[in-house]
Amino acid sequence: MLRDIIIIGSGITGLSTALSLSHHLSSAVPDLRITIFERHFIPSTSGGAIGLSPVALRYLDHLGVMDELAHLGPEAGADVDGIEVFSARTGKSLGQVDFAGKNGVGIHSDKGPLECQKTYKGARLPRINLTLAMISAVEKRPNIKIVYGKKLSHVSSLDDEDKVEIHFDDGSRATGDLLLGCDGVHSATRRNFIDPGHEAEYSGFTLVQSTIPTASLQTSPHFRATSLNFSKSGTMLMTFCDKFHQEMFVSVMLECREDAVGDYVVVSNEERKRIIRESLAREVRMRYGDSAIPCIRETVSRPDIDWMMYPIFQVPLGGRWYTDKAILLGDAAHAMLPRDESAAYAIDDAIVLSRVLAEYIAYPLTKAFEVYESMRRDEVTHAFKESRKLWKRRNKDAGAFESWVRERLVPLQLRQTEASRQAAFKADASRIEIPSPITRLGTGMGSGQSSGRSSPASLRPFSKAGSSASSGSEMMPIGLMDMSGLAMR
Ligand SMILES: Cc1cc2nc3c(=O)[nH]c(=O)nc-3n(C[C@H](O)[C@H](O)[C@H](O)COP(=O)(O)OP(=O)(O)OC[C@H]3O[C@@H](n4cnc5c(N)ncnc54)[C@H](O)[C@@H]3O)c2cc1C
Repeated sequence: MLRDIIIIGSGITGLSTALSLSHHLSSAVPDLRITIFERHFIPSTSGGAIGLSPVALRYLDHLGVMDELAHLGPEAGADVDGIEVFSARTGKSLGQVDFAGKNGVGIHSDKGPLECQKTYKGARLPRINLTLAMISAVEKRPNIKIVYGKKLSHVSSLDDEDKVEIHFDDGSRATGDLLLGCDGVHSATRRNFIDPGHEAEYSGFTLVQSTIPTASLQTSPHFRATSLNFSKSGTMLMTFCDKFHQEMFVSVMLECREDAVGDYVVVSNEERKRIIRESLAREVRMRYGDSAIPCIRETVSRPDIDWMMYPIFQVPLGGRWYTDKAILLGDAAHAMLPRDESAAYAIDDAIVLSRVLAEYIAYPLTKAFEVYESMRRDEVTHAFKESRKLWKRRNKDAGAFESWVRERLVPLQLRQTEASRQAAFKADASRIEIPSPITRLGTGMGSGQSSGRSSPASLRPFSKAGSSASSGSEMMPIGLMDMSGLAMR
């Protein structure tokens, strides 16, 4: 009997999984109890600003988070109706990635009658504000509880009781009927229980980012809400992250050596950290200091800008996702180089799993996990590979001629990939068809691996142009931020 569900981690995946389970399972399991265990004592305030695509906003609305975000007023983030693309070299506009749709009101889902559909654009907001809105939504659900200060150390099966037992660092324990590992890229649920030995690896890329008050700039920002600025050594994301555009978030992706990154993370010596930060500032200045856009020039040459470094780790493809009573979701299962809709992939997991569990409530958990994996594995693998290709393509600094050609191609690429981008933004896990137990169990499907790229359950199209806004365009990362060349050589 599925009654006590334990979730490890209160990030985007853990919170959205709890909300979605409560939404989809409560009627089938009236005494459902969902407990989230989080290692931190308070919600984490780190991580800068997150960009949310129309898909992510649709999902957050489905989970009741948009109403809570609305209560945050200006803190709910900047509305983004498109990502404007510029040449940092010449200052010219190269086009835009549209979130407003044909009628300018946003993008609707591809499922259900059009007249019943809400439309969504995009948003950019501080991560902590999204977390707080999600926690408010959780607090409205009496069957969800968050317990802070509980770091999972290991897990064991209580076979005689058909339960899992969770052990925490402080010596305490909890038992449940189902364990959901939503504990991020370095997941202890994965490493210590579901797939021992499947470690995260450094991706080779590091995000360098900072937030500055807009009013402190002498020059005027050159964009409406969010801009991606091409230079000959990658691109820089500049975006507002609050309703009134008082704060500006700036980020650049750099390829960094692992030892340099490791140094920064483990070094406790403040002087050494200061030296690394200064070298980051120099690197960014070198790449963008000669931009034709005054706001970029001013930003990168500010002596007071405090660049923070986020080394990016990924979970290698092909790992195991589940055992008989536990499953990995979100970054714990498939952390990848960031895309403009990475959070949407994590929420896809949450919604699809909850709906599959509801449909397969009378069956063993492994049946539901198998169906879930058959619906998710190919799409996630495809997204992982596309993200990797995208950042690799942007690896090398371009010479003046190559950079000129690249910029000339951007408008064309934007046009060519528009249709697949729009299709990807219509993905809707809350309405995708779940294979019914009768049909599925009768067809002999169920190897745990899905049958291929034409899977009818795929959320996003697997076209050449890729499954997301950022994939497929040869030299066109329209996502979150960009990488430059070889930083910190
Ligand atoms: C640099 C960067 C920028 C990104 N930008 C964007 C963006 O702009 N838009 C977007 O859509 N996506 C973005 N992404 C991707 C997106 O942030 C992630 O996919 C998403 O946040 C994954 O959430 P998660 O809950 O799975 O993991 P996490 O956010 O890592 O949450 C895991 C939670 O588990 C807790 N935890 C860990 N270990 C334990 C333990 N042993 N016991 C108990 N609790 C534990 C952690 O404290 C944490 O609260 C970005 C990713 C990176 C790396």
